[in-house]
Amino acid sequence: LRKSVGLALALAFLLSVGLSYLLARHITRPLARMLEAARRMVGGEFKQRIAAGSNDELSDLARALNQMAGSIEEKIEALKQDRTKMAATLIAMQEGVMVLTVDGTLRLTNPAMERMIGRQGSELTGQSYWEVVRQPKLNEFISQALSGGGQTTEISLGSGPGRIFQVYASSLAEGQDRAAGLVLVFHDITELRRLEQVRKDFVANVSHELRTPITAIKGYVEALRDDPKVDLQQRQRFLEIIETHTDRLNVIITDLLLLSKIESGQIPLQQHPVELVPLLHRTLGLLSHQIHLKQHKIVLNDGGAVPPVLGDEERLGQIFSNLLDNAIKYTPDQGAITITLGEQSGNIDVHIDDTGIGIPLTDLPRIFERFYRVDKARSRELGGTGLGLAIVKHLVEAHGGTVTAESRGKGTRFTVKLPASSN
Ligand code: ADP
Repeated sequence: LRKSVGLALALAFLLSVGLSYLLARHITRPLARMLEAARRMVGGEFKQRIAAGSNDELSDLARALNQMAGSIEEKIEALKQDRTKMAATLIAMQEGVMVLTVDGTLRLTNPAMERMIGRQGSELTGQSYWEVVRQPKLNEFISQALSGGGQTTEISLGSGPGRIFQVYASSLAEGQDRAAGLVLVFHDITELRRLEQVRKDFVANVSHELRTPITAIKGYVEALRDDPKVDLQQRQRFLEIIETHTDRLNVIITDLLLLSKIESGQIPLQQHPVELVPLLHRTLGLLSHQIHLKQHKIVLNDGGAVPPVLGDEERLGQIFSNLLDNAIKYTPDQGAITITLGEQSGNIDVHIDDTGIGIPLTDLPRIFERFYRVDKARSRELGGTGLGLAIVKHLVEAHGGTVTAESRGKGTRFTVKLPASSN
């Protein structure tokens, strides 16, 4: 009996050891696979899935891990796409963007910002803003904005006249209420300010130009009305002066209206092929009285048979009339005015050279501005309004051409380049 019981016990022991071993293998193998998969996920690999078998708890766990890997993979993909979009937006932005941490360290700059500062993004990240931006006003603004102050300011960056920027600051929120830093956006408003200045100068100039003849007219009218001692001869002289100033007002207003119509595109160009030589002869004919008075010598080099230009005959006439009128006006008696035509790569060049007083180098870049005159008194005396060249420039550009001026102390050359007509 003892022997049989011992045998039975030994058998039972062996059986239980064998069964326990099998059971343990059945549990640990899938667990080892899951551990391996979890390790791969830690390494950022979410593509592989764990094989889930029958419907026990371990298979449920494997399925849950697979689902988690799938959704993490999707989220990472979505984050990558967001990041790419944000990077593309920052690269495409014309405005400079700078992101700072709360302690003023640079976290991010976009290419526009890097161009403004003239440094590479990699050199900038991690530096303090005051090491990068050496502009006291901007530094003060940033330190105020970091402590919750100013939202916007206007600064000028760069040496010399520099460029003007409108800087906007907004705090970078992280989670709820907690500021994680500051975003600064730099908007270049140099052109806007320049246009504002042009507009202000224009209004001031117009007012001044109109006021001068009006003051004179008013003065003479008052003299005629209030002074009984004005004799007939004097009265005649006063009336002539009033007439001269009225004519001048008329010329200024006509030129101003024309300029504003050209600018707003209210003068549609009737474009067709126009032969320049006959047009120039006609224009010279209209100016023959002034030419004769000043005894100028006129030469027209027609450049052989240059093709016609594509343009509006009346407006082209106006361009050359203004330029030739100036050449006559600003050239002392017995001067020479030479018109030369030439063709160059699909364009017709018309050079108008005179032997006159010339234009100083410092004034050359500005003579096409409205009301800009080298010598205001002389221009006025000669009946100029200061609008002639502005009209020329606008009309030439409306024809798709260019106009330039050159002068070396004595004499001036204006060159009008117009597209040749292809038929
Ligand atoms: P203005 O009515 O005063 O002539 P414009 O716009 O035609 O005005 O010309 C602007 C200025 O450019 C003139 O006041 C003059 O100082 C200068 N200018 C234009 N053409 C000539 C020229 N051919 N020679 C010298 N100066 C010129």
